[in-house]
Amino acid sequence: MQDDIAQILVSAADIRRRVKEMGRDISRDYAGKELLVVGILKGAIIFLSDLVRELSIPLQLDFMAVSSYGDDTSTSGAVRILKDLEVSVEDKHLLIVEDIVDTGLTLKYLLENLRARQPLSIRTCTLLDKPERRQVEVKVDYCGFCIPDYFVVGYGLDYSQMYRHLPDICVLKPEVYEQRRKK
Ligand code: 5GP
Repeated sequence: MQDDIAQILVSAADIRRRVKEMGRDISRDYAGKELLVVGILKGAIIFLSDLVRELSIPLQLDFMAVSSYGDDTSTSGAVRILKDLEVSVEDKHLLIVEDIVDTGLTLKYLLENLRARQPLSIRTCTLLDKPERRQVEVKVDYCGFCIPDYFVVGYGLDYSQMYRHLPDICVLKPEVYEQRRKK
């Protein structure tokens, strides 16, 4: 598995430090309020589970799963809900927690979909952001790291459902994609 990695882009230690800071910022901004944290499956699970343990405010946790049509490493923009929230968003302050914002299409869809349900407020939080890839404007309220245009895996992010368990954010070797395309 280590042989598939070209480079560590963000180390586990740097992630830990930044997630603590983000937890402090979010707890401060929502002081006195109750939060509904909406984790987006599956990529955000590891980030989300670390982040919520840094939050000192009362909160509920729920999940959505969406699929975007596209190939292995990019999205086409069409988004479909595979799993919806179980709790109602009425009278709730929502925080959408994503793994990465790339074109912005997924987050834009989620924001529009959830806004239509009329929560008290809605904000977005992502571990990673690739601003140079953006196709649509979308507001990111909390961002862990801005990264260059690499396809990354680890800390919840996958390639073909693999590599999610790696503790660092890593760049895969190009051969890994090329080998798979040949299969
Ligand atoms: P967007 O709709 O912003 O283009 O893409 C959002 C989704 O695409 C992310 O939630 C993630 O699943 C996937 N994605 C975008 N960039 C990367 C990347 O570098 N690595 C991985 N593993 N997934 C990515």
